[in-house]
Amino acid sequence: MAKRDYYEVLGVSRDASEEEIKKAYRRLARKYHPDVNKDDPEAEAKFKEISEAYRILSDPQTRAQYDRFGHAAFDGAQGAGPGPGQGGFDPFGGFGGFGGFGDFDDIFDMFFGGGTQRRRSSGPKPGADLRYDLELSFEEAAFGLETEIEVPRTERCGRCQGRGAEPGTLIRDCPQCGGRGEIRDVRQTPFGRFVNVHPCPRCRGEGKVIDEPCRECRGAGVVTRRRKIKVKVPAGVDTGFRLRLAGEGEAGERGGPPGDLYVFITVRPHEFFQRKGTDVYCEVPISFAQAALGDEIEVPTLNGKVKLKVPEGTQTGTQFRLRGHGVPDPRGYGRGDQYVTVRVVTPTRLTPRQKELLREFARAGGDEAPDGKGFFGRMKDALKGHA
Ligand SMILES: [Zn+2]
Ligand SMILES: [Zn+2]
Repeated sequence: MAKRDYYEVLGVSRDASEEEIKKAYRRLARKYHPDVNKDDPEAEAKFKEISEAYRILSDPQTRAQYDRFGHAAFDGAQGAGPGPGQGGFDPFGGFGGFGGFGDFDDIFDMFFGGGTQRRRSSGPKPGADLRYDLELSFEEAAFGLETEIEVPRTERCGRCQGRGAEPGTLIRDCPQCGGRGEIRDVRQTPFGRFVNVHPCPRCRGEGKVIDEPCRECRGAGVVTRRRKIKVKVPAGVDTGFRLRLAGEGEAGERGGPPGDLYVFITVRPHEFFQRKGTDVYCEVPISFAQAALGDEIEVPTLNGKVKLKVPEGTQTGTQFRLRGHGVPDPRGYGRGDQYVTVRVVTPTRLTPRQKELLREFARAGGDEAPDGKGFFGRMKDALKGHA
């Protein structure tokens, strides 16, 4: 495939200013960056193309070379280079944070919110967030609780205060890289000056060396502990609810702030109650006599037993509402209700006396459903229609 013209790739004219090139690049890079286009090989290819074009055109020297010789200028340079991948002209070499030339901090600032941090690993680094799964009973979730959880996490080493060096010993700038954390090889070629940057092997890019590592943390500056942490669970939480405990995550590095701890709530099912948001649902069995004659029954709620009046002639499946007997909203928006569904239970084992009474009830016309005639009449009509 023929290589596209770099100006065309960035959509700028041949006499575009440096600022215009930068702007065009930023706009396109944002659109095609791999972080925003996960698993999209086309976007990735596009992003590489844009990055390459920007690298060449953003540097006045290479831009001049390109203007004179086109792509041929760089094909030649690559051939003469020290090898693939590490050469100053590997168009994508700069993206990993090392190598290449030109001002690539730009792109890290844009996408990672702190280019210098990523590029120079010796800066402060915030600690990672932690997740803890907490299972609660139905009642605990409804009423809230204060509990203690045990979380394994890294913490700043107390012996060295996170410095990593044994107390009283020094941390010096790395003698090999002069504290920069990276080593630059500069090469002059007919096409310009090429800089190859790689992390310093002595200090592993930190820029600092420790004379005597701390005995407690062996130079890491952090230690792993099982820490007991108090958690206040507000009343009304439900499965899927997440509590954030700021600063209770892993320790930061090199003076960076600690991460956060997230407590994920799961609520165990209740044998009697169900929940939908702040409302509570339950089913209560009542007898045929209670349903027919009406009664006052006792219903369990989260606040204990509550009396419920079942009116005369209640059908099975009827739902009653007990206002304010649900679960409080964890954000403080009032309290839900409890819905009680009654189930009329048909008696299965009757005494001879009960049977006698029921037969008498039937003879008195009690075996007809209230709308029985209407129902059977409609059913007959429906059958006729299909005869
Ligand atoms: Zn230490
Ligand atoms: Zn070094």
